[in-house]
Amino acid sequence: MAEIRLGEFDLIERIRAGSASNDRVLIGIGDDCAALRFRAGAEVLVTTDMLMEGRHFLRDRATLPEIGYKALAVNLSDIAAMAGQPIAAVVAVALPKGETLDGFVGLHNGMNALAKRFGVALVGGDTNAWDGPLIISITVMGESTGRGPVRRSGAKPGDALFVTGPLGGSLLGRHLRPLPRIEEALALHREVDLHAMIDLSDGLAGDLGHILAESGGLGAILNADAIPIHPDAHRVAKQDGTSPLDHALGDGEDFELCFTVSPADADRLLASPPPGVSLYRIGSIEAEPGIRLRDPDGRVAPCSVGGFDHLAQPKSGGNL
Ligand code: ADP
Ligand code: MG
Repeated sequence: MAEIRLGEFDLIERIRAGSASNDRVLIGIGDDCAALRFRAGAEVLVTTDMLMEGRHFLRDRATLPEIGYKALAVNLSDIAAMAGQPIAAVVAVALPKGETLDGFVGLHNGMNALAKRFGVALVGGDTNAWDGPLIISITVMGESTGRGPVRRSGAKPGDALFVTGPLGGSLLGRHLRPLPRIEEALALHREVDLHAMIDLSDGLAGDLGHILAESGGLGAILNADAIPIHPDAHRVAKQDGTSPLDHALGDGEDFELCFTVSPADADRLLASPPPGVSLYRIGSIEAEPGIRLRDPDGRVAPCSVGGFDHLAQPKSGGNL
């Protein structure tokens, strides 16, 4: 198979016709810029994430379609975390020199399938080849709903705290195929006043810490037996001799949502959850700073698990 030569016309022509589009696209792939139309009065949400070979994925553990899928999925998860509707994406790719045209198309197909599933248009990008490893960076533009974006900063003491799915152990493979919780976020946003929300990319303890810090230095009490633990967390814990709960609290890349609502809204949600939305009420927001765990006997102790922090890993760069 031919190696990619930079500037090859076919490369873009191979993906142009089949790329996901929608009725917001006035100009898509093929011109100097894309042009989009947003709903009058909507805030435009913009987010970007970069995945680097050797850092966020290993080529012998992930296929090119999986890498393309994940690169878009993590961005869509950020739009979900604001309770936004994703509209369009642009893609910047640095390909290793030896990569084939079919390899590039595979990368594109992985993200294109996910884009179609969520009605997101792929409207442009930039493609380069170099002597280094594969790097892919996607920028997604979305739109807030009429109720506005949900921020990290709106939690209040007394709020109930929820997550949308079981946590931990995603490195066993789940991290490659997260399903962005777009529909769940929009459904929740329609039903209740979401005070604060974040997507769980760096582990529950760490990401909840962001909500607490942004909300003015609050704290939280988590009910240990209410935290949904993924079967993968049990498997990893067996392998490394730690506890499944520690994995649920500390592992990254669950890509579930974590949000807070008033206690009255919490009761309403649990009494009639929006269709298709899994809900776990795991604790409450407190005025006293810090994250604490309440064990089944009612004893409360500080949570010792931190989130996964890319920057804390020496030598290999990091993800802010
Ligand atoms: P320019 O030199 O004007 O930036 P390019 O040759 O880089 O044009 O790109 C041609 C067209 O293909 C542009 O519309 C660009 O947005 C799009 N494009 C380039 N790479 C990608 C990609 N990986 N995915 C989607 N669209 C791409
Ligand atoms: Mg270009």
